[in-house]
Amino acid sequence: MCGVFGVYLNEEETDIAFSKLSTFTYLGIYALQHRGQESAGICSYYNGDIIRIANKGLVLDAISKDDLKNIKGKVGIAHVRYSTTGDSSTQNIQPITRDSKRFGKIAVVHNGNLTNYRSLKTFLNSNNIKLQCSSDTEVFLGLLDVVEKDNSIDPHVSDEEILPYLVSALKMIEGAYSILMIVKGKLIAARDPLGFRPLLMGRRKGINGSDAIVFASESCAFDIIEADYWREIKPGEITIVDENGIRTYFFSKSQETKKCIFEFVYFSRPDSFVFSEYPYNVRKNMGIELAKEDETTPDIVIPVPDSGIPAAIGYSQYKNIPYEMGLTRNHYVGRTFIAPSQDIRNLSVLMKLNPNRGVIKGKSILVIDDSIVRGTTSKRIVTLLKEAGAREVHMRIASPPVIGPCYYGIDTPTKEELMASHMSVEDIRKFIGADTLQYLSLEGLKRSVQDPDSFCDACFTERYPVLYEG
Ligand code: AMP
Repeated sequence: MCGVFGVYLNEEETDIAFSKLSTFTYLGIYALQHRGQESAGICSYYNGDIIRIANKGLVLDAISKDDLKNIKGKVGIAHVRYSTTGDSSTQNIQPITRDSKRFGKIAVVHNGNLTNYRSLKTFLNSNNIKLQCSSDTEVFLGLLDVVEKDNSIDPHVSDEEILPYLVSALKMIEGAYSILMIVKGKLIAARDPLGFRPLLMGRRKGINGSDAIVFASESCAFDIIEADYWREIKPGEITIVDENGIRTYFFSKSQETKKCIFEFVYFSRPDSFVFSEYPYNVRKNMGIELAKEDETTPDIVIPVPDSGIPAAIGYSQYKNIPYEMGLTRNHYVGRTFIAPSQDIRNLSVLMKLNPNRGVIKGKSILVIDDSIVRGTTSKRIVTLLKEAGAREVHMRIASPPVIGPCYYGIDTPTKEELMASHMSVEDIRKFIGADTLQYLSLEGLKRSVQDPDSFCDACFTERYPVLYEG
């Protein structure tokens, strides 16, 4: 998973514009920090060149005030990353840039995961294109140099140079991608034909009309810079922004979409608006559906903060059972699952949550989390609650068992590491030590969203919409 952000300023290149560009890109990825904590980076286009700042760590640590002073130009893209393909080494930090023989210095940021990366890499190698990184993102840039033109779409005159190559490249690429590119000073947004990952477009109003067009993975990145959500980039769409305005093309028109339902289960921020819905409301619905499917009558309902909060509120309101904060979260540690090695992962679970003994002691507690992946978190939580004096601990999960890895950009582990892929619910209950364990049914999950058939649910069903080459 990753977060992408882009901005095109409708103004002359002045120092004021440069400072706006650096502020907007910085704040944009700051708001998207939850989508990746491994590294952060910003690129801008200035005088035919690409300026790049990219470092490991959180946005706050990766990009300094002095770095931001180097950002010049009126178009920028930015990224927060955690790795799905490619390791977390420095060369894989996005934005990724390339000195293209056709277009000069170009840059890209990507959220998703390509399912035919191996073939594309072989194709590029056979065309003498050497990739600098091990991440799949670089193929977007490499392909632009080797593909033949695809003239199936009539470009607006100023897009003639780029569009036929881009269309050709995107038609070769399979899997999940929401990308932003800078090519020849134009800002380009594109989304795969099934629309796995979100990509939104916004407008920022200045004193003299619209002062910027912005793109982001989630609308929370618009709020922070006081821009307004405008619309989604549609599956199969390419949108190009430059000094001549905004042009939209479709390189693919699929009958169906496969939006990632896990964005609603876990990934997106609750205050965002993605896939035309509010994740907070969907999560609350998941809690309501969970309550409808559950006969238990505990003393209190508590969330695993923060990811279980909306579902726990929904559950408690539906059943009229008191909602309490039974666990306090230390906000100064990263998200548990994100650390790539198991040792660190365990440590950060321990560092993250502390039971609120005054609420828990002697009670029958129903605790709600959004998902179980490896089971480490749930086991620790049940132990914490029991040690803090809970009489009974009923674990409830606001999504179905995760049985299949994601090949489209969510960093789930291998099938073997996914607890529910080889253990029954009863075995998992025993492993985590809960008195009872219940997951939301797939039907309940589907009832929680507006257009259930438009989602990819492969992690819960192993019905993979696009073949993964491995
Ligand atoms: P685990 O301990 O492996 O079972 O992880 C489950 C916890 O990680 C849950 O509390 C989720 O909120 C969170 N989680 C689930 N999926 C992801 C993901 N892809 N990335 C980061 N965290 C996740």
